[in-house]
Amino acid sequence: MGGMKFDWKNLRGASPERRLFSRVRIEPNGCWEWKGVPTCNGYGRIKVEKPVLVHRFSYEFFKGPIPEGLQIDHLCGNKICVNPAHLEAVTQWENMTRAGTQVSVVNGGKTHCKRGHEFTPENIYRQPGKPAHWRICRTCERERTQRRRKSVGEELGWAA
Ligand SMILES: [Zn+2]
Ligand SMILES: [Zn+2]
Repeated sequence: MGGMKFDWKNLRGASPERRLFSRVRIEPNGCWEWKGVPTCNGYGRIKVEKPVLVHRFSYEFFKGPIPEGLQIDHLCGNKICVNPAHLEAVTQWENMTRAGTQVSVVNGGKTHCKRGHEFTPENIYRQPGKPAHWRICRTCERERTQRRRKSVGEELGWAA
């Protein structure tokens, strides 16, 4: 992808992420604001196979699938922001399960994720709705986010 110039005018047939991120501007406060026309409730929306909210799309693109039934919360309070670092999947009982993570670190005897990152209380979290032994490695998730941000950034000419 490196060096390939993004064609802002020709979005016909472009991938959903191109169509979405071509309308994003990075604001000085760190928000990635989507500059399309928002829906009546103030959120951004694009059509992929069916209409999806842009912040939900961005979360899934950078961080992975949103677990069923979860809401995506804007930590920044900016409804048109699609910066994955400002987005968090939450449920109302998330705080309870977070507390539970502290005790049961060991995943069936495993102490590291499949890429060798250690399972510490700081590095893992539980996804609500998944079995109790299900663990997400934060290091892996962060690396994936960085990879995807880099590839989108190169394509759209964002500063790295
Ligand atoms: Zn934001
Ligand atoms: Zn890992």
